Amino acid sequence: MNPTYFQTYRIARERFLEATEQAHGKVNSLIHPQKGPEQEELSLDVAQTGDPQAKRVIVISSGLHGAEAQLGSAVQLAILEYLKSNELPTDVRIVLLHALNPWGFAYVRRVDEQNVDGNRNFLIQGESYQTDENELYGQLDQFLNPADQSQLQRSFLLQAGQLLLKHPYQKVFKAIASGQNRFPHGLFYGGDAPNWTTRQFTEYFPAWIAGATHCCHLDFHTGLGKYGRGELLIDTPLDEQTQRWLKEAYSGESLHSFHKQNEPPYQARGSISRWVHSNSTASHTISACAEFGTYSSLKMLKTLRQENYYAQFGAPDSKAFQSARKKLQEAFCPSSNRWRQNVLERGVSLIRSAIENVHRW
Ligand SMILES: [Zn+2]
Repeated sequence: MNPTYFQTYRIARERFLEATEQAHGKVNSLIHPQKGPEQEELSLDVAQTGDPQAKRVIVISSGLHGAEAQLGSAVQLAILEYLKSNELPTDVRIVLLHALNPWGFAYVRRVDEQNVDGNRNFLIQGESYQTDENELYGQLDQFLNPADQSQLQRSFLLQAGQLLLKHPYQKVFKAIASGQNRFPHGLFYGGDAPNWTTRQFTEYFPAWIAGATHCCHLDFHTGLGKYGRGELLIDTPLDEQTQRWLKEAYSGESLHSFHKQNEPPYQARGSISRWVHSNSTASHTISACAEFGTYSSLKMLKTLRQENYYAQFGAPDSKAFQSARKKLQEAFCPSSNRWRQNVLERGVSLIRSAIENVHRW
C-alpha cells in the first residue's frame, strides 16, 4: 500500500497538519459546522509556505469533490515532504488547501451535505442560481435519478442505450456533466446559493494571493479521462504570456485548453476555475483542473447514480448503501497500487514543474 493514501479524512488531516509543521508551514483551519462520522472535527486546512511577500503564488487544492480527495491529499502530503528538504525558489510561495469539501471527504460523497456539487457552485458575476439552462437534463432526470428501487434496478446499459438512440452521446454527456440547478436530489446539482466551501473560498482567496503578480492554481480531481492518465484541463481564456509559459513549463505534458479552441469534455457552469480566473487580483492567472482518469465514463455514471440513490433514499447503515459507497470510493481512487503510484508521481511532477518554472512566467 502506498503510505501517503489515507482511507479516512481524519487520518489524512492529521498527517497533513503534522507534515505542514515539519515543513515549517503556517496553518489556518476553517472549521466546518458539522462533525465527521467519527465525531471528528471537519475543516478546510490552509497551509502556507515560503515568503509571504513572494510575488509568485502556487495554490494547490484538493477535495472540492469530497470522494475524489484521496489523490489530491496524497499529492499535497508528498509536496510537503519535498519542501522539508528543498527550499522554494526566491519569490515563490505555496498555498495548500486541504479538503475544500471536508464533509464529502469524511463521508465519501462527491457532493456536500446538501447534495451540492462544489464545482458547479462557484458562479461568477452576472450568473444566477435560478436558471433553466440545460433543458436536456430534465429529460434525463428519470434515468439519472431513479425515484424507486425498481427504476434503479432496471438495466443501466439498456436505459443508457435507449437514451443514446434519441440523443447524440456528446450532447447527453454535456447535459449531465455541465451541471443543473433544478433537481436538488439529482446528480451534478449546482445548488441555489453559495455553499460552505464557496463561501470560505471566496472570502479568503483574496488574502491567499494578496500582493502576487502571478497566480497558478491547480485543483485536483479524479474520475475523468483515461485510466491512470493525468491532464490539465483549462476552461478559461489565457493571456499570451501565460499560454507561452504553460507550453514551456509543461512541454510534452497533456494540456487541454478548451477555451474557444475545441469543445471541452464539458463546460461546467459554476466551476472554481472560472471563478478564480475572473476574481484573481494577480496580473497573470491560470486556474486549471488537474484531472486523473480512473474508469470509463459509463461506469462512473452508473456508480454515481447508484450511490446517489442510496444517499437520498437509503438508510445510512444499510448494506446496499455501504456497498454503493465502497464502489464509489474505488471508482474515484482505484485500489490498484500501480494506479496510485503512477498518478501520485504525475501529480507531484505537475506541481514541481510549476515550482521550478514559475519564475520564467
Ligand atoms: Zn471532480
